[in-house]
Amino acid sequence: MDRSASQLPELGQDPGREYRLGIMGGTFDPIHYGHLVTAEQAREALALDLVLFMPAGSPAFKQDREVTSPEDRYAMTVLATAANPSFYASRFEIDRLGVTYTVDTLKALRSAYPENVHLYFITGADAIIDIVTWHDAAEIASLATLIAATRPGYDIRQAQARIAASGIDFDVRYIQIPALAISSTNIRDRVRLGKSVRYLTSESVMGYINKNRLYHM
Ligand code: ATP
Ligand code: MG
Repeated sequence: MDRSASQLPELGQDPGREYRLGIMGGTFDPIHYGHLVTAEQAREALALDLVLFMPAGSPAFKQDREVTSPEDRYAMTVLATAANPSFYASRFEIDRLGVTYTVDTLKALRSAYPENVHLYFITGADAIIDIVTWHDAAEIASLATLIAATRPGYDIRQAQARIAASGIDFDVRYIQIPALAISSTNIRDRVRLGKSVRYLTSESVMGYINKNRLYHM
């Protein structure tokens, strides 16, 4: 696969060095500070060179509700990540048609980058517990290291037990991030009810939501 055709940033230029590419997938409807803190602390903890934020085109898990247009979710992702030189908003999944599976994205990234670029897939604690049930979980395990962000006090034993019971050889790194009980669902609910979402997401995203009347009805 051609990296420039899919608008992915360059990485892996020096064959004598190892590079680390983080991938933060999500619906990002809208993106919020929970996503941003998780990605930033994963970047720091695992010395990632770049983190790609990949809004899902047609999320595999969210076929049951109306999701905001990919262009709006992508625009908010660009706004929220613009000032961080290590963050990169990617159109990669929204430009693909159909349901997005993590395994397909990881396979495409694997072929787009040279061997000296290692893939790190970042997820929140809620997602890691389900990972063994994901589409082609074993192949995901072979393609990427998983970074599982947990809150202080969160018990990782249940996740570890489920992963062990799956028999799949996942490489999971657990990192602790400050508790942030922010969710996109809560932000959408608050906007609909006319409540404040200031400090749950960036000013730029908040402005975009209001300007475009997202989530209001
Ligand atoms: P929704 O409420 O619509 O499900 P969400 O807030 O969970 O949205 P997603 O786009 O579903 O956001 O999540 C993308 C990724 O970010 C997932 O890996 C999820 O676990 C992680 N994540 C979401 N919110 C947080 C948070 N507050 N802290 C840490 N990780 C988070
Ligand atoms: Mg979620």
